[in-house]
Amino acid sequence: MAEGDTDDAEDGIAERRMRFVFALRSRGVTDGRVLAAMERIDRGAFLRGIFAERAYEDTPLPIACGQTISQPSVVGLMTQALELEPRHKVLEVGTGSGYQAAVLACLARRVYTTDRHRRLVRDAEAVFVALGLSNITAMTADGSRGLPDQAPFDRIIVTAAAEDPPGPLLAQLAIGGIMIVPVGQSDTVQHLIRVRRLAEGFDYEELRAVRFVPLVEGIAPD
Ligand code: SAH
Repeated sequence: MAEGDTDDAEDGIAERRMRFVFALRSRGVTDGRVLAAMERIDRGAFLRGIFAERAYEDTPLPIACGQTISQPSVVGLMTQALELEPRHKVLEVGTGSGYQAAVLACLARRVYTTDRHRRLVRDAEAVFVALGLSNITAMTADGSRGLPDQAPFDRIIVTAAAEDPPGPLLAQLAIGGIMIVPVGQSDTVQHLIRVRRLAEGFDYEELRAVRFVPLVEGIAPD
């Protein structure tokens, strides 16, 4: 390849990243650290085949096991709503492609992520290794029960819709901690809820309407 071709390819990548970040900003992702993390983590690495070409569009896309990678602006808004600090230990329920976990891993000390599909966990782990992200632990588990052995968590993010914020997750949230969870019946209107654990009780705040695949109980048989 001639030197000029390499420069052109690099210019193309730089421009694509700039447009990606610009689109995030225009949709309300304004936190500089979140934008830097999303600029760093290549969403294309978490997609396969024809969908990898569409990685920089602000749209959800299909992944294996009939699941979806979330829309980048929703990933950005949920990450921003978590108010992460570098010392935080985070639990994600719904690994899916692993993209959200990778973004979290840039902003927190340690990320635990769980999915009920073994195959998704395996594929995501391979991408974490390829990207050199060593602070993510991915596990096949029913995430609606949380991870009692690793609790409490400073932050919890659920990327599948629950009918109510799951009780075990509320119990595993540290005092002062924040949980972001889409709540609603599947395929009807869901709302992103921010739960803050206070010294006594919880504070609930409705952020915006969203659409996620449902949180399903138990480990998938695949
Ligand atoms: N965060 C993902 C997108 C998640 S899609 C990403 O960045 O790509 C929702 C995921 O939640 C699916 O992969 C689905 O298998 C998973 N899921 C649904 N119910 C679950 C449960 N009870 N425990 C763990 N994962 C669950």
